[in-house]
Amino acid sequence: MTRAASDDPPPLVVAVVGAGPSGIYAAEALTQQSETPVDVTVLDRLPVPFGLVRYGVAPDHPSIRSVRNTLERTLEKTGVRFYGDVAIGVDLTADELRDSVDAVIYAFGAGSDKRLGIDGEDLEGSIAAAEFVAWYCGHPDVHPDSTDRPTAESSTGADGTSRLEQEHVTHLVSTTTDAVVVGVGNVALDVARILAKHAEELAETDMADEVLDSLDHKQVTDVHVLGRRGPAYTAFTTKELRELGQIADLDLLVDPLDLELDTSGLAVVGRDKVAARNLVVLREWAERPRGRASRRLHLHFWTRPVRILGDDRVSGVEVERTALDADGAVVGRGEPWVIPAQLVVRSVGYRGTPLPGVPFDDGTGRVPHAEGRVIRDGGFSADEYVTGWVKRGPTGVIGTNKSDAVETVTSLLHDVDDGALVPGGRVGRLTALLAERGIHPLEMDGWHRIDAAEVELGRSHGRVRTTLAHRSELLAAAEADDQAAVQR
Ligand SMILES: Cc1cc2nc3c(=O)[nH]c(=O)nc-3n(C[C@H](O)[C@H](O)[C@H](O)COP(=O)(O)OP(=O)(O)OC[C@H]3O[C@@H](n4cnc5c(N)ncnc54)[C@H](O)[C@@H]3O)c2cc1C
Repeated sequence: MTRAASDDPPPLVVAVVGAGPSGIYAAEALTQQSETPVDVTVLDRLPVPFGLVRYGVAPDHPSIRSVRNTLERTLEKTGVRFYGDVAIGVDLTADELRDSVDAVIYAFGAGSDKRLGIDGEDLEGSIAAAEFVAWYCGHPDVHPDSTDRPTAESSTGADGTSRLEQEHVTHLVSTTTDAVVVGVGNVALDVARILAKHAEELAETDMADEVLDSLDHKQVTDVHVLGRRGPAYTAFTTKELRELGQIADLDLLVDPLDLELDTSGLAVVGRDKVAARNLVVLREWAERPRGRASRRLHLHFWTRPVRILGDDRVSGVEVERTALDADGAVVGRGEPWVIPAQLVVRSVGYRGTPLPGVPFDDGTGRVPHAEGRVIRDGGFSADEYVTGWVKRGPTGVIGTNKSDAVETVTSLLHDVDDGALVPGGRVGRLTALLAERGIHPLEMDGWHRIDAAEVELGRSHGRVRTTLAHRSELLAAAEADDQAAVQR
């Protein structure tokens, strides 16, 4: 070490829990300043980085998924390392992590889902969008194998409901002609689109082979999307809505009466450009003569599920018409009717789950904080910060996590300036602790091997990439080159 280097102040050692966009944007913000030298480790319980960019953003939206190239560059930066396959709460407790670094930034997302709270929700065939999305994106939680390790409740990515597994989904989609998707956000549209598209339209994506196989056995002819409010209140973006109109061999059915606006709907459309644009798209569909496509997507507004029907398996959804009361709350108007269905996917929002040892507000499903500083026992915690979905809830687009992470890192750096957070010469402690425990994190070179293996597997089938869905496949790919190198 040079004399100048030994005179350098020790870097601030920061661990980021979660390598989704918010965690990686936090690492970027930490390294984009030079006043406080930093040493950043971004940890993820999965062997691969990118969070919902890999395991949420729809595989038929490759341009959005390509943001991972930018995220990857941050993980390659000097002063930043990626430690995959390390689950906080399982491999290390939150306290052990805090002891080994100067500051922790929690960025562990919102891996669970909100429930409908109606009868029949736990019937076979009633599932969460979070699970279905994880399945079609090839998430190892939903493609388990013998190498899977026990997970802390907080790191399962679901709320304790039974997980979908490959054979189970194949069975569900191959025995479903009518599906109901509850919710009117972009995730609901993703689910409806994947259910409505012919499998060959998805062959260009990077979906895992077993997922494509299952979708190839799909029997779905009708997908019903339910919105409990009127068309002015959808959370779709217009681009995603319009995309439904471009799906081959699919008729879009909207009742023109559902599109009539009451006073509050008129006010929303008057001030919200997206709502106004969505309404134009919906009106155009409502006016189309009924087509002869082999599949139909029905959009029902002012309609909410009352109960899910069935004995052993979902057979339908009883719904009722709704209206808004004087306070703008949704109330049932009765007029029940039944939509026959064998599959119900609830898509009414994601929700954070607690990480043992980390403050958590059950009411909001978030880590309590002020401008990213974690609140513990009624005061600011000296070394804990939070960003992303577990900080603000599951809202916004990928880019929203960037400004969110900047806010958190700004708070952290102010605390360094104020002397509230002091570099403690902890470089290397986390790495040593993991080694002591026999935990071997996957680093960026492992990710590059996985990346190369997925591209290679895809090419061998004439596709751009094929996702490896099982942890054992990911680990084998991460180590493959090492073995090849040893043999050479
Ligand atoms: C289905 C779906 C589709 C979406 N599509 C789009 C889109 O098209 N465009 C768009 O702009 N946005 C989209 N989003 C939103 C976007 O994905 C989120 O804004 C973003 O991913 C939130 O980032 P995050 O880092 O807070 O959480 P996440 O992306 O969820 O990352 C959290 C990370 O923490 C890790 N983790 C969890 N627990 C632990 C633990 N105990 N130890 C270690 N690591 C842990 C997880 O494995 C995960 O990698 C979509 C979201 C969903 C759910």
